[in-house]
Amino acid sequence: NFETKSECANRLHHWVEKNRRYTEEGTCASYIPALRHADPHQLGVCIIGHDGEIIKGGEADVVFTMQSVSKVISFMAVCLTHGLAYVLKHVDVEPTGDPYNSIMRLELKKPARPFNPMINAGAITVASLLPGVTKEEKFAGLLDVLEMLLGRRPSVDEAVFFSERETAHYNFALAHFLKAEGFLKCGVEDAIDIYLRQCAIEVTTEDLARIGLVLACDGYDPLCSKQVLPSELARLTKAVMLTCGMYNASGKFAAFVGAPSKSGVSGGIMTAVPPRRHKVTPFHNGCGIGIYSPAIDEAGNSAAGVKLLQHISAEWELSVF
Ligand code: GLU
Repeated sequence: NFETKSECANRLHHWVEKNRRYTEEGTCASYIPALRHADPHQLGVCIIGHDGEIIKGGEADVVFTMQSVSKVISFMAVCLTHGLAYVLKHVDVEPTGDPYNSIMRLELKKPARPFNPMINAGAITVASLLPGVTKEEKFAGLLDVLEMLLGRRPSVDEAVFFSERETAHYNFALAHFLKAEGFLKCGVEDAIDIYLRQCAIEVTTEDLARIGLVLACDGYDPLCSKQVLPSELARLTKAVMLTCGMYNASGKFAAFVGAPSKSGVSGGIMTAVPPRRHKVTPFHNGCGIGIYSPAIDEAGNSAAGVKLLQHISAEWELSVF
């Protein structure tokens, strides 16, 4: 009811202001030149509940680029196109404990199948598997899935795309290695173009919360009463997010927040909170959460964003465990 909602919104506002100080514990990613200019003190959150209730706090309406959060979407897009069995031949679902752009393990074992779709080697491979032949068709295939989830076709921040392309040496190295090993289904240049363009897709916290909600509900979109993703795919995606979604802090995040999430270096986090039985806390029927706070910690996760999620999870018992 309205009172509950406004009370939840008040509490959320309070928690945002309480956790804003943690923005000081991170810095904006600078290796992508265009991300340097973000305001490091911003912290925004949007939560969408099962019944469509939306509450927001802080700078929830800032537009930012998805970066690694897009890896979740491209993974689902290729699974929808090719089926899981085919996709798993090209990318595994095991966490690594290595930096997200590490090339090390590709050489350690042959064939060099990337460990999971949330690290760059896996995501570049996945980008090459998108439906279609040209890079334009493949990118459109990704946007189709996003459009189905968001109800609108998002735009790309061309400045972020071009500025990252200038400095994408590690990603090119990964792509060349994967091409040599036979894992890329298109040329190196095209794979990098698709991958970096998907990283530059523009979203808000509300967009991330919407997708999080669909995943929370096992692929059912309660806002339009439609099963938009197969439930098996939604569950698998959540498992990959929980084990690999928060870079090398995924274990701690599972322990202290306990909800499948994916972060990106622009400071976004997308969280899926599945329904919790026998609970009467707010959002016990499940919800999606979108976070934005561009100052990231050493692991690459939004510093204040993680603290805020931890706070919300503790107060409203959001952990799946
Ligand atoms: N575009 C970024 C890269 O490949 C994404 C990194 C991230 O968000 O983890 O370096």
